[in-house]
Amino acid sequence: MTHPENSSSSEKTGRAAAPRKDFLREKVAEDFASGRFGRPIHTRFPPEPNGFLHIGHAKSICLNFGIAQEYAGRCNLRFDDTNPTTEDIRYVQAIRDDVRWLGFNWDDERFASDYFERLYEIAENLVRAGKAYVDSESEEKIRERRGTVTVPGTPSPFRDVRDRSVEENLDLLRRMRAGEFPDGAHVLRGRIDMAHPNMLMRDPPLLRIRHAAHYRRGTDWCIYPLYDFAHGLSDAFEGITHSFCTLEFKDNRELYDWLVREAGFERPPEQTEFARLELDYTVLSKRKLLRLVSEGYVSGWDDPRIPTIAGLRRRGVTPEAIRAFADKIGVARSDARIELATFEHAVRDDLNMRVPRVMALVRPLKLVLTNYPEGQVEMLDASLYPHDVPKTGSRPVPFSRELWIDRDDFMENPPKKFFRLAPGREVRLRYGYLVTCTDIVKNGAGEIVEVHATCDPATRGGNAPDGRRVQGTIHWVSVPHALDCELRLYDRLFTAPNPDALPEDRDFVTALNPDSLVTVRAAKIEPSVAGDPPGTRYQFERTGYFISDPVDSRPGALVYNRTVTLRDSWAKLQERG
Ligand code: ATP
Ligand code: MG
Repeated sequence: MTHPENSSSSEKTGRAAAPRKDFLREKVAEDFASGRFGRPIHTRFPPEPNGFLHIGHAKSICLNFGIAQEYAGRCNLRFDDTNPTTEDIRYVQAIRDDVRWLGFNWDDERFASDYFERLYEIAENLVRAGKAYVDSESEEKIRERRGTVTVPGTPSPFRDVRDRSVEENLDLLRRMRAGEFPDGAHVLRGRIDMAHPNMLMRDPPLLRIRHAAHYRRGTDWCIYPLYDFAHGLSDAFEGITHSFCTLEFKDNRELYDWLVREAGFERPPEQTEFARLELDYTVLSKRKLLRLVSEGYVSGWDDPRIPTIAGLRRRGVTPEAIRAFADKIGVARSDARIELATFEHAVRDDLNMRVPRVMALVRPLKLVLTNYPEGQVEMLDASLYPHDVPKTGSRPVPFSRELWIDRDDFMENPPKKFFRLAPGREVRLRYGYLVTCTDIVKNGAGEIVEVHATCDPATRGGNAPDGRRVQGTIHWVSVPHALDCELRLYDRLFTAPNPDALPEDRDFVTALNPDSLVTVRAAKIEPSVAGDPPGTRYQFERTGYFISDPVDSRPGALVYNRTVTLRDSWAKLQERG
């Protein structure tokens, strides 16, 4: 089949990406106009390589890369890799692939793990300035002394310089770095304020001892910076102007500001928080996704049911659809969950404009045209795109005496509003003829195994010369020409709209949807798709959008993943009533 498919982005929606003016962009526009930073607008996307990216990250990617593009600035990809026990080079590679696939290129690639020495120097300077000290209390004790929101913390016995001098602190810090102490023996803390109303300012831990191999540093480093120590300073090292992050980091801003000020940065980055994306019927947390993957609830990080970029890609979602979705939901100052329908709408909108239509049957039922000559085959011309899509092209579809139709398109005793095939009723076979049902063949168990009909030879193309009307049009595939295929029908991953907040604190996995994947092994598809490469997207007429599975589909063993139904399945259920 020839259909220039799937890849071109320019010809699709025709809706230019006029950036919406959200509060982040307003701020950037202001700073750009005033030249406040004295350098170009510079953003970054800072993932921790401890899992695959999900659609929440895509929102952040679109934001950071998008804003840099709009202001002819720069955007870094920075791996915030400060935790040796959870990070992996495999995740780094997957993150790079996903960002590129989404359509973005970073200016510089950076790793927080390259900043360990520089952070260490800042740590020594803080100690010299009396702004940091080595605490030798246990982690538990330190936690106890932090106090609560209403109760001020109490100082550690090592906090006061009269108890532990600058010299002694420096000596301990150096020996921590040299690997002289076991994990947890000491921790470097900022000396800020143990009664600070912001709990994060109560002498935050900065460097902790971890004798663990890091995927990039190996075992050459054993005092790992805490995320809070590394993150804001890494932004400053890179000359970032605008650090965008999600709302849960609001309180951390004060600490980042303190650190960059103490480290002597003029015109440091400014952090602004926005609401993280939360999507109904799924989870957007790497920790939870990791559990689903590692405990085998799904087949891997690219399982089409999970909202990872890799999963969405394998499911058939396009990067353009994800970008359009990110654009549509915009950014907000407070959290709000997004309905799945909003996402699916963006997916359909995009696929509608780009993918060819073909015919496939989910539940094939044989239709025999008793007056159609045996052995005769006609090649019918079937257009690949409907009239309202600015693409053209057609493929030949073989028509013969025996056809597969969908079981759902036939009813022996139909209700009044059923406009498809039923005894005595006439329907249009898409691109073909009008046919009238004459007979039903049942097996011993009373199940319908075959339907008989007559074909009106004067109606080729689907219209009757006498102008009589038929209400229904159904799709079909010629039995001797049909290809066998497997269909993977994906549905929402969870049965609860918010699996993060189940009643009685139930574990989120208890809300997994047992029908999130229904595999149909005996489906049929028209022969025109035979030569298409894996990863080709289609609309199966009247059924949904599908992609040939990039991993498992091959000639002779075709597998198609359902990207999305043609419309909201709940709406459809209601309509059927
Ligand atoms: P998770 O909560 O899934 O573990 P994370 O915040 O720990 O995500 P990071 O790798 O630290 O994952 O995130 C990289 C960037 O992506 C951060 O700037 C973070 O704010 C942003 N981000 C993560 N999740 C979302 C989300 N759901 N919506 C918007 N941005 C997000
Ligand atoms: Mg994080």
